[in-house]
Amino acid sequence: MIAFDNTYARELPGAYVEWQPARAPAPRLLHLNVALAAELGLDLAGLDEAALAELFVGNALPPGAQPIAQAYAGHQFGGFSPSLGDGRALLWGEVIDRAGRRRDLAFKGSGRTPFSRGGDGKAAVGPMLREVLIGEAMHALGIPTTRALAVVATGEPVLRESVLPGAVLTRVAASHLRVGSFEYFAARRDHERLRRLADYAIARHDPQLDGHPQRYLELLRAVAQRQARLVAQWMGVGFIHGVMNTDNMTLSGETIDYGPCAFLEAYDPATVFSSIDRDGRYAFGNQPAIAHWNLTRLAEALLPLIDADPDAAVPQAVAVLETFPAAYESAALAVLRAKLGLAVPADVTGDVAAGVAADVAAEDGRLAADFLALLQAQRVDFTLAWRHLAAVAAGEAAPLRSLFADGPALDGWLARWQARAAADGRPAAQRAAAMRAVNPRVIPRNHEVEAALRAASDDGDLAPFEALLAALRQPFSDDAAPARYATPAAPEVTACYRTFCGT
Ligand code: AMP
Ligand code: MG
Repeated sequence: MIAFDNTYARELPGAYVEWQPARAPAPRLLHLNVALAAELGLDLAGLDEAALAELFVGNALPPGAQPIAQAYAGHQFGGFSPSLGDGRALLWGEVIDRAGRRRDLAFKGSGRTPFSRGGDGKAAVGPMLREVLIGEAMHALGIPTTRALAVVATGEPVLRESVLPGAVLTRVAASHLRVGSFEYFAARRDHERLRRLADYAIARHDPQLDGHPQRYLELLRAVAQRQARLVAQWMGVGFIHGVMNTDNMTLSGETIDYGPCAFLEAYDPATVFSSIDRDGRYAFGNQPAIAHWNLTRLAEALLPLIDADPDAAVPQAVAVLETFPAAYESAALAVLRAKLGLAVPADVTGDVAAGVAADVAAEDGRLAADFLALLQAQRVDFTLAWRHLAAVAAGEAAPLRSLFADGPALDGWLARWQARAAADGRPAAQRAAAMRAVNPRVIPRNHEVEAALRAASDDGDLAPFEALLAALRQPFSDDAAPARYATPAAPEVTACYRTFCGT
């Protein structure tokens, strides 16, 4: 029924514990992404809803699944834990999808494991449906992400601040390799297993590096580039991950673990929603620096592979790490240029001096930064501002103007933007369409997410969840989703909004 090929379990003994999911007393299917199941090549035909619930809760794993709890370590809020691991997750195994890509299937919330420490190994309906909503939103926004395949209510209560209905999520990922996977073996000075893990990561994510004389250094570079692009994309849609611990940073460059995440409303880089992030370590504007910090932890873990002589390994790793800020800036500029609807002018491409291109890049960077400064100064909704800027490109300035208390400040900026835009010679309609294709109308607004999850968790009413999910799947359409999904919360609601970890 499902053609598993479990390379992680086969090739990396010592990096996991074989383990079985807990039995769920009364499973009930809450969500199944049928299109994703088809993309994965899963044959679910002939399974009725009850059988699907048994399957995706872990009561009836298919032949070939080989559930394991993966070992990993991690820096959490800056402090190192040498033994985290899957405390409430299990990898079923891997499948090759229809496009030929290897994907992990894994449970979250499937019960205690040897890595559970004090935790109950369980998850609640609300947070698992949140994984569906945010993951699908990110996917529709074109941002690399793990995705939810299914959510099944277990029929069992879980104890948090209150008693909540329990659930199990089935998650799909390019892999579950994280920075913390490498820290686990590095902390134990188990260089043999560390090397096997790195070779495995290369085979899975950077096969072109196989046999490269400096492949571990190049692995670090490849991960840094993926993370630079990923975080630039987060910043482009106002996404705050909320818990960028090293165990939540993937080697694949996919976003993982939608716990205390949230989207910005009014633009402010200092925005923090997570109740446990008291010092703002994972504030919106800190995310690029934290990615760099996390990559430095990956570099430290890889040092013994880069060169047996630390004095030789360190400067090589440092040289790669030092490329991160420029890689991030370049990725961020590409994102912001697209949001601004600016193409590089035709006379700057081709064989014209690189110096001219650099001047244009610097000017475009300033233009973007000045727009963001305006949004911040006037507390303008980030998503609406960009979407309405696309309307300005189409000749309609009123919606954008209505967001700004200080009109002249905006007009000054608009004049500069229009002058720059004219230089690339793009027709207005084409520019407006290009801008609408990257500046979403619909994002997962925090108040809508909370309302949908509350209805599902408290009242068993999935209708708001379904409606929101449908809206999130068409973020760039002007009319696919009802207006409520494109409307910010009242500022006082957002000011009080808090997200919770340990979900
Ligand atoms: P997270 O913050 O969700 O990325 O999880 C960090 C670590 O805590 C991982 O090792 C998880 O497996 C573990 N963990 C989180 N919640 C639970 C839970 N309810 N029971 C057991 N372990 C958990
Ligand atoms: Mg995690």
